[in-house]
Amino acid sequence: MTDLSLTPDRSRTTPWHAIPADDVAGQLGSPEEGLSDAEVARRREIFGENALPEKRPPTVIEVFLRQFMSPLIYVLLAAGIISLLFADFTDAAFIFVVILINAVIGTFQEVKAERSATALQQMLKIYARVIRGGREATIPAEDLVPGDRVALESGDRVPADIRILTTRSLAVDESLLTGESHAVRKDPEPVDANLPPSDRLGMLYAGSTVMTGRGTGIVVATGQHTEIGQIAETVTTSETGKPPLVLRMEDFSRKISIAVLAATGLLAIIVLGQGVPPLEVFFLAVALAVSAIPEGLPVALTVALSIATSRMAGRNVIVRFLAAVESLGSCTLIASDKTGTLTVNQQTARVVLLPTGEEISVTGAGYAGEGEILDGAGDPVAGSVRDRVESLARAATISNEAGLERTDAGDWTHRGDAIDVAFLALTYKMGLDPAGIRQSMPSVAEIPFESERRYAAVWYRDGEEVRVAVKGAVETVLPFCLTMTAGDGRGEPLDPDRVQEEHDTLTSRGYRVLAVAGGRAEGPVSVDNPEMPPLELLGLVGFMDPIRPDVPDAVRRCRRAGVDVVMVTGDHPATALAIARELEITDSPDRVVTGAELGDPEVSTYSEFVSRVQGTRVFARVTPLQKLRIVEAYRESGAFVAVTGDGVNDAPALRSANIGVAMGSGTDVAKDTASLIVTDDDFASIVAGIEEGRYAYDNVRKVVYLLISTGFAEVLLFLIALLIGLPLPLLAVQLLWLNLVTNGIQGVALAFEGGEPGVMDRPPRRPEEGIFNRLMIEETLLSGVTIALIALGAWHWLLSNGWDEFAARNLVVLLMVLLENFHVFNCRSEYLSAFRIPISRNYFLIAGVVAAQGIHILALYVPFLQDVLQVQPVSPVEWVTLLVLASSVVVVMEIFKAVRKHRPPAHQTGYGVG
Ligand code: ADP
Ligand code: MG
Repeated sequence: MTDLSLTPDRSRTTPWHAIPADDVAGQLGSPEEGLSDAEVARRREIFGENALPEKRPPTVIEVFLRQFMSPLIYVLLAAGIISLLFADFTDAAFIFVVILINAVIGTFQEVKAERSATALQQMLKIYARVIRGGREATIPAEDLVPGDRVALESGDRVPADIRILTTRSLAVDESLLTGESHAVRKDPEPVDANLPPSDRLGMLYAGSTVMTGRGTGIVVATGQHTEIGQIAETVTTSETGKPPLVLRMEDFSRKISIAVLAATGLLAIIVLGQGVPPLEVFFLAVALAVSAIPEGLPVALTVALSIATSRMAGRNVIVRFLAAVESLGSCTLIASDKTGTLTVNQQTARVVLLPTGEEISVTGAGYAGEGEILDGAGDPVAGSVRDRVESLARAATISNEAGLERTDAGDWTHRGDAIDVAFLALTYKMGLDPAGIRQSMPSVAEIPFESERRYAAVWYRDGEEVRVAVKGAVETVLPFCLTMTAGDGRGEPLDPDRVQEEHDTLTSRGYRVLAVAGGRAEGPVSVDNPEMPPLELLGLVGFMDPIRPDVPDAVRRCRRAGVDVVMVTGDHPATALAIARELEITDSPDRVVTGAELGDPEVSTYSEFVSRVQGTRVFARVTPLQKLRIVEAYRESGAFVAVTGDGVNDAPALRSANIGVAMGSGTDVAKDTASLIVTDDDFASIVAGIEEGRYAYDNVRKVVYLLISTGFAEVLLFLIALLIGLPLPLLAVQLLWLNLVTNGIQGVALAFEGGEPGVMDRPPRRPEEGIFNRLMIEETLLSGVTIALIALGAWHWLLSNGWDEFAARNLVVLLMVLLENFHVFNCRSEYLSAFRIPISRNYFLIAGVVAAQGIHILALYVPFLQDVLQVQPVSPVEWVTLLVLASSVVVVMEIFKAVRKHRPPAHQTGYGVG
C-alpha cells in the first residue's frame, strides 16, 4: 500500500482538492487503520518535522555583545579610551573591567529571561488527534507526517494541509491565508484543479481554525511544504514586544538621564572653577552620571517579570504576554466559567427521571462503567421501568461523541466531552455495550454539540427506518417534543408543566439536568441540514459535578484580596446558584441572572445595563456574545477584569478583558487569544497567578527603590560635600565600582524576592498608579538622605580627626558598600519591618549581599584593585565601627515604617465585595 514515490515535491504539486477523497488515501499510502510506527518514522526521514523554521534565539555571545549597545556604555568606553590616550593604563584597565563585569551581570539576567521565555513557548504546543496503528492517539502537531489520518473539531487549529474525508457541519476560518473573515463551509467533494486555495472546499490548510462542526482527513503536506509554509519562510513565534512597565521604565530612565547630564555638566563647571584638573573632572562627571542614571533598571525589570513567569509556570499558569504579569496585580474581578474551572468537570449521572415521575438513582462515581441503577425502593430496576431507562440510555449513546472503554488491565479509559462520557458510563451500568449499540445503529446525519446550541442530535438507521436521538438542555429539547414516554412504553401527549416542575426540583438540588428524546425522521434526511421531526421525551438525567477542592479557599482569598468573583456559565440558573452558594459567591437568587433576562445593551440605556451587570454575581445560560457584553460592562464600571474561556467563541470576550485566561483543556482558538493559560483549568491557579503577579510588581518596586535611593544618596553626598567645601568623598573609579559592581549585584538579587506576607490581604493596585506613589517617594528620599548624611558625617569626622584623604576615602567606600548592603534589607518591604520578611523567601539575596561584600573585601587585598580603587585592608576596630554606622540606615527606616503605620497604597475600584 505504501507509495514509495511519495516526495515533498509531489505532496506539494499534486492537486489533492481535485482528487476524490477515496483515491487520496491510496495515493498517499494511508490505510484506514492509520500509519504504522515504522512507516511514520520512514516518512519523518523524508518530510522532516511538521514545523516552520523558527527565528533562532540569540546565542549567549549575542546577548553579551548586546550589553555594550547603550549610550552609557559608550560614554564609559570613551572614558576608557581617553585614559589610554593619556597613558593612564590602570584607570583604563579598571574601566574596561567594570564594563565587563557589568556586561556579565546583564548577560546573566537576559539569558535567564530568554530561557524562561523559550521554556514557556515549549508549553504552548498544539496537539493533533490521529489514527495510527489502528488506535486513536493525541500527538504533538510537529510529529504529523503526510498520510496521517486526523480528526478535527470546533476550536482546533488545523495542524497541517489536509485533504478532507468526512465533514459534519464543518466550517473553517481561513482568514490567515485568504483574508476572508467569515467561516467557510467545507465539503469532501473534489473540485476543479485550477481553483485557488480559497475555493478548494475539500482542503483544510495549516494555520486556519475550525469554527464549527467536525471533520476527518488525511495530511497531504507538512511544515514548509504547506501553503502557509510557502508564504512565510520564517514565522517568529508570537513576538511579544516589551511590556508597558518596562517601556515606562525606559522612558523614566531616559528622562532622569537628561536631568542628570544637565546637572553633572553644571557640577563639572563648578569643580573646574575650583581648579581641579579637567581630566579628573571629566571622569568624575562620568562616574556621577553613572551613579544617578538607573541604567540597570529596565533590564532588572524584565528579569523580575520573567522570574515571575517561571514561578507562575510552576503554579500551572503560563504567561503568553509579559504585560499580563503586571496587570494581574491590578485585577479587581474574575469572571469565571463554572464547569471545569470551579468544578472538576467529572460529570456523573446520579438520577434518571422518567416522564411518568419515577425517580431512578444511579450509584458509582467517576469515569467508570461500574454501578447500579436502582428504583425508588432501592432495588435494581426491572420490567417496564428498566425498558424505558434502557431506551433513554440507547438514545444518549447514539447522540454521543465520546469513548469509554475497559482496558485489558481492567481499568477505564475515556476520551471526549465529560457529559458524553458520563452517559456512556450510564449505558454500561445498564449492562449494555455502547460500541455494540453504535454498530447496529449506523449514523446518517448529525448536529454535533456546540456550547451555544446546547444540544446534540444524531440521525441513525434502525432497521428500515431512520430515527433521531437527541440530548441537551431541557429548555432547548423540550420544544422539540410533542409526546413523552408513558408507563407502557408508548407515547402520550407531553405535559410540559409537569416536566418543568421535575426539572426545577432537580436543578435546585444542584444537578445539571439534560433531557433525552427520540423520534422517527419524516421523509429523506439531508446530511448537512437535517430537519428535526417531532420528538418523544424519554426522560431527564441529573448529573453531579463536584467542586474542585481548592476553589472554596481560593474564592475566600480573592475576597480578602479585594478581588470580586462572578460566575459566567452556559448552565441552568438553578444549578449555577447551587454551586455559587457552596462557594459563597452569592446566596441570593436575586443576584442570578440569565443571559436572556440581562437583555441587550442596545435596548436599555447603557448605564442601566452596566448597573444591572454590576449587581449580578451569577450569569447563567449565557451565550458568548452576552459574555462579551458582560465583560465590557464590567470594564465600563471601572473594574479590571480577568475572564476565563475555553470555547471557540470565547475569543472576543478573552480579547476584550484586561486579562484573558484560557483553560489548558480549552480550544486552540481560546489559547491563541488569551494572555494567560491555566494548564490545570483550576480557578485556584488563577488566584495563584494573581498572587505571583502582585509579588512581581512588588519586586519591581523593590528594585526601583534600591537603585534610585542609592543613586540619589551618592549624588547628594557629592553635592553637600561640594557645597560645604569638603574634598570629594569618592573617586570616580570608586563611584563606578559602587554602581556597576556591588549595587548591580544587589539589584539583581532583589528581583528574586519570594513575596512578603500579607500580599493577598491588601486591595488590588490601581492600574493607573505609577511606581512613584507617595510612600515610594517618602522612603526613597528618607533613605537616600540618611545614607548620604551618614557617609558625609564619617567623611567630615575622619578628615577633621587626622586621617589623610586616602585613608578616609578607603573607609568611606567601604562604608558605602556596607550601607547599601544593609539598605537592601530595607528594600525587601515597603510596609513591613525588614525583620518580618523571612530570609527563606530569598536565599539569593543573601548570596547577592555576600557576593557584593566579598568582592569588595577581595578588592581590599588584591594589589591591582587596591591600586585602582585606592583602597587598603581595614582594621577590626574600623570594621566594627563602620558596621554599626551602616546599620543605622536600617534603624531609621524601621522607625519610619513603624511610625507611618502604612495603609496599603491602592484603593478599591468602585464597588464592594460579595
Ligand atoms: P458551561 O458554561 O457550564 O461549560 P456548556 O456551555 O458546556 O456550559 O453547556 C451548556 C448547556 O449545554 C448545558 O447546561 C447542558 O444543558 C448542555 N450540554 C452540555 N454538554 C452537552 C453535551 N455533551 N451534549 C448535549 N448537551 C450538552
Ligand atoms: Mg462546558
